Amino acid sequence: GERQPTDLNALADEYFRIAYQGLRAKDERFNATLETDFAPGLPAVPAVGADVGRVLLNLFANAFYAVQQRQQAGEAGYVPTVMVSTQRVGAQVEIRVQDNGTGMSEAVQQKIFQPFFTTKPTGEGTGLGLSLSHDIIAQGHGGTLRVESQPGQGTTFTITLPA
Ligand code: ADP
Ligand code: MG
Repeated sequence: GERQPTDLNALADEYFRIAYQGLRAKDERFNATLETDFAPGLPAVPAVGADVGRVLLNLFANAFYAVQQRQQAGEAGYVPTVMVSTQRVGAQVEIRVQDNGTGMSEAVQQKIFQPFFTTKPTGEGTGLGLSLSHDIIAQGHGGTLRVESQPGQGTTFTITLPA
């Protein structure tokens, strides 16, 4: 597809809800707190909306999975929370997807962008989401996709796109 000026706040908001509803359709007992913090007046970004939408869906699905896994461990007082936020940083726009799920070790973090790398049971993950997401952001949009994670604390993915 062609890149078109895209409102990333609207795109992120829409896909956040779609991802959550998708998960709830499979497991109606699953509940997470959804938080958003969208920068007002964000400049439109040249993007293929359907492609960035796929990236967001995958990041949200991974985040909901990670909080669901941590919730299933039964820790007292745990509130599964996923947050999406946007900000303008100079000539770039960032979208951040933050969860307080299981987190990942350094060793896992080093492999997550490789095709077919997954820690999920057969049928629950193909291991293609992040490698595809990385290509869409880097090759497709000249941006970056970075991860920060603490095992047992949570994970933040940051998409940076030139505005
Ligand atoms: P899949 O979701 O099919 O496993 P991905 O490429 O989307 O494939 O993710 C690869 C792996 O990265 C996951 O199996 C998981 O180990 C790790 N991962 C990705 N996102 C998160 C997250 N938010 N929290 C913890 N681990 C994650
Ligand atoms: Mg995935």
